[in-house]
Amino acid sequence: MAEAHPMMLYNTLTRGKERFEPLDPKNVRMYVCGPTVYDYAHIGNARPVIVFDVLFRLLRQVYGPDHVTYVRNITDVDDKINARAAEEGVPIRDLTERTAKQFHEDIAALGVLPPTVEPRATEHIDEMKALIEALVANGHAYVAEDHVLFNVPSMADYGTLSNRSLDEMEAGARVEVAPYKKDAMDFVLWKPSKEGEPSWPSPCGIKREGRPGWHIECSAMAGKHLGEVFDIHGGGIDLVFPHHENEVAQSRCAHGTDMMARYWMHNGFLQVEGEKMSKSLGNFITIHELLATKKFGGRKWPGEVLRLAMLMTHYRQPLDFTVRGLEVAEKVLADWYRLIGDVEAAETSDWADEVQDALVDDLNTPAAITKLHAASNAASGDSKAAARFKGAANVLGLLERTESNWRAEAEARVGVDKAKVEALVGSRIAARKAKDFAESDRIRDELVAMGIVLKDSKDPKTGEIKTEWEVAR
Ligand SMILES: [Zn+2]
Repeated sequence: MAEAHPMMLYNTLTRGKERFEPLDPKNVRMYVCGPTVYDYAHIGNARPVIVFDVLFRLLRQVYGPDHVTYVRNITDVDDKINARAAEEGVPIRDLTERTAKQFHEDIAALGVLPPTVEPRATEHIDEMKALIEALVANGHAYVAEDHVLFNVPSMADYGTLSNRSLDEMEAGARVEVAPYKKDAMDFVLWKPSKEGEPSWPSPCGIKREGRPGWHIECSAMAGKHLGEVFDIHGGGIDLVFPHHENEVAQSRCAHGTDMMARYWMHNGFLQVEGEKMSKSLGNFITIHELLATKKFGGRKWPGEVLRLAMLMTHYRQPLDFTVRGLEVAEKVLADWYRLIGDVEAAETSDWADEVQDALVDDLNTPAAITKLHAASNAASGDSKAAARFKGAANVLGLLERTESNWRAEAEARVGVDKAKVEALVGSRIAARKAKDFAESDRIRDELVAMGIVLKDSKDPKTGEIKTEWEVAR
């Protein structure tokens, strides 16, 4: 598809919307910080995964599917991982493998495409050590008590991404006071491993084995798979400082470049029913719980509903995640699936172009959804138009199934016994024919209690009553 309108993206680095121009349109390169795999991903983690999936799809549309490299890492070495593995009494590798697999299952249910490359931190230790050695060699890092630390005052323009004063940065970083630090802001690139923790031979002639700090992982993996300077770096707004600021410091100082990524994109915070999500408030919810348990709103939810609900808010705005919001999104999807039935998506259309035009304006998903609403009204009752509508929704990663799949999944979620429902529907029709309305109402109530709604209609030719049923939610 041709680029109809120029792509504009909000850049955290310059604090404004800018025209997006990739370094190489034949290879547009994007890095997004991925999960630390020690527990189920929560719905706050789902937001960047969905937002940058929409951007990945858009870039593939504009530049061609073979001309985009999207790297989203897996952090599989971390204090939280060590602590959890010890708590469960399982090998670290078992915990990280299980959690990574669960993450993949969860986000596949949200309609998220796999990234081009999904590097793991533990498979890039050599690249991290090479960066650390380079930083020590050029005076931006130093060895102290078996640690390697980045020396923040060695970088004249440290802090340009987060644009904060040194005081704010110190507060934000919750700086660990350690006697071996030259400066309070200095951060760890490498540290010694304690007994039983994962460890590797250390860089810089340190005898004791150790492991990398968190920030250096992303610098090493981005550098290896995308080069010293690349196009887009993304993540949640909470990562701007210190994580992304420190990635910038490491990469730029190691490579001697004036930037790491040219466009920095950050999605806003997520709240649940107007409150900060936290374990202590009891409103902490994982993607898995949303999909497979009745913890949120007393029922299981389709992954696509969560996807649409999140895209209804612009990615830079704070998002209030509510049961009501999910209900609204589900109603919209149910209507849209009814409209498209089982048609195949049309590959191109004016509607798809309109959705794309909304997205090239800093990923304006609410505007794209408004376009889809208008298209769905125009497509009603016309299967060719329905195919074009489905194609337009696919630009956002929506309506990728058929109505039959959508319904079958709803039935499976509720645990519908199809034969029993059909038998009850048949008995109700018989009761109505016999004018036993008390019995017919009783059967309808029984079906409602099972989560089934009935739709009666009269055949205009024969006058015969026809009853269709579906899962209420
Ligand atoms: Zn990162």
